[in-house]
Amino acid sequence: MKRIALLTSGGDSPGMNAGIRAVVKYCLYYGIEPFGIYDGYQGMIDGRGKILTYDDVNNIIQFGGTILGSARCADFKTKEGRAKAISYLRSEEIEGLIVIGGDGTYTGAKILGEEMNIPIIGMPGTIDNDLFGTEYTIGFDTALNTVIDAVDKIRDTATSHHRVFFVEVMGRDAGFIALYAAIASGAESVLIPEEITDIEKLVNDIKTQNKGKRSTIIMVAEGDDGGDAFEIMNKVKPYLPEFDLRHSVLGHIQRGGSPSAVDRINATMMGAYAVDLLKEGKSHLAIGIIGKDLVTCPIVDAIKGHGQPNLSHLQLIEKLRTR
Ligand code: ADP
Repeated sequence: MKRIALLTSGGDSPGMNAGIRAVVKYCLYYGIEPFGIYDGYQGMIDGRGKILTYDDVNNIIQFGGTILGSARCADFKTKEGRAKAISYLRSEEIEGLIVIGGDGTYTGAKILGEEMNIPIIGMPGTIDNDLFGTEYTIGFDTALNTVIDAVDKIRDTATSHHRVFFVEVMGRDAGFIALYAAIASGAESVLIPEEITDIEKLVNDIKTQNKGKRSTIIMVAEGDDGGDAFEIMNKVKPYLPEFDLRHSVLGHIQRGGSPSAVDRINATMMGAYAVDLLKEGKSHLAIGIIGKDLVTCPIVDAIKGHGQPNLSHLQLIEKLRTR
């Protein structure tokens, strides 16, 4: 294999740069030309890419975001758009492709693989951790650390003022961030899309949780069926007139920042593994980490299902908050 292309696509996540660096340096070690494509599938359609050098990826492991840029590209969902992308890959004599992104990116890769004979490897890059076939996606650990740092700060002011805070975190379809950040920050309750929200129970929980406490934190995944943090707060408000309720939406800070050690290490191992797989002639695989091991599953399987958080942790949180 002489030339491998690489792109980052969909929602960016901290650690993507560590993955890019590993792919590029590993390719160079083996005498393969790494070819970076800018802004995901959009750059593939527009013909925006270049051969990456060692210097292009020096000193980037510590930065969030992605030096290649990312985009959501509607044109790639059309056959005409993909035909342009394919002719660009052919004109640049690309022999293998590594995509870093979430399940949308994997879906695009699967369809591209059906229309062009090119080996493709996927690396899981999303803060949401909701990809099937891996226990850790690149960016999840950093996002968790960002959330717990913010919640620790919110806890200080909540405690000073005797407040109940509804903290909204990212997770449109999945409650990984909310659930694990709730455990790590000692939140009293967590509301996630995987579990139906019972407003009456939440009201009772807040009343009992708050006994003898100066603050309560309710972690809310943005995609919770009960609504966002503001809506849920307003639903319980009429039943809790004696409480001072506030909400806080953490938003895009969760997507940025210097990647954690875990994300840098995972992204580096996965990047090197992706190059190894292509060298070995493997194709259409998504890389994951299960336990401490690097694993693969077919990209088609990775997009069929979603990763599921361990729902028994909900009981853990409930038991830990009981006096
Ligand atoms: P993520 O990879 O983070 O899940 P998106 O869902 O936005 O992010 O997907 C990233 C990109 O993958 C899309 O903008 C589009 O270019 C491509 N993609 C997603 N779904 C498809 C599809 N059904 N067909 C072709 N390309 C797709």
